[in-house]
Amino acid sequence: MALLEEDRVRRLLRPLLRTRTVLEPVASRPAERELTGTRFGGLPAMEDGESWPVCDGCADDLRFVAQVNNERDGLHDRLPIAFFTFFYCWNCHPWGRSGERGGWLVRSYTSLTDPHVADAGDGPAFEERHALPLPGKSLPDGCGMSLHCPELWDLVPGDSGGRDAWANWRVVDSASLDLTHERVRAPHLRNAGVAIGGYPYWANGGDQTPFCPDCPDPMELLLQIRPTELTDASWGDVGTLYLFMCREHTQRTGLRIQCT
Ligand SMILES: [Zn+2]
Ligand SMILES: [Zn+2]
Repeated sequence: MALLEEDRVRRLLRPLLRTRTVLEPVASRPAERELTGTRFGGLPAMEDGESWPVCDGCADDLRFVAQVNNERDGLHDRLPIAFFTFFYCWNCHPWGRSGERGGWLVRSYTSLTDPHVADAGDGPAFEERHALPLPGKSLPDGCGMSLHCPELWDLVPGDSGGRDAWANWRVVDSASLDLTHERVRAPHLRNAGVAIGGYPYWANGGDQTPFCPDCPDPMELLLQIRPTELTDASWGDVGTLYLFMCREHTQRTGLRIQCT
């Protein structure tokens, strides 16, 4: 099998380019407490009339993981919501279940009319940490090509593991780095880090992008949490958590977790 030409690979990849925002941990806190600032841990902002969410599996309080001011900190072609909060239940460990709902919650808002920060003691909290948003570009990682670029997946070919395939994946990696200028140069770390938008870094196993039940489209990455100093929350043994949302039907969200 002939080695793929990098020009040809670049032509296949260019239409797939997405932007993303990497959330880089920072030690400093904002000077003033920001009601709807992006943060991990601490207390969430809620809309007037909302209360601390309860797990629909075990009826315990959900734990607040993170909130994102998408409108301000989403420096990419963001999903059409202004703000979201994310809660999770460590009693129920919802990943791996067949159902899309249960044991976790994304509350998303196109605008907030009268938000307030939840009271301390309303629910269990992680230590509050902050992030700096940095813009970047993103292409699917290796296994993501099976969904997003089947033509390339077939050309490589896919996950055959043959020597030719490895050589072809190196061509793909080189072309990808050339197009995205990712700061993390190691190709096997494509889409690393904590990020909103772009494509996921599938930590272990194949592409598990959920599809929207209301349309034929795959959902888009809303938030990816790789193991990070941004949060004490963790999922299994070195787990990466992925939240997805349909761009058209923003009430449709999906959760995936992969452990390495
Ligand atoms: Zn639960
Ligand atoms: Zn949809």
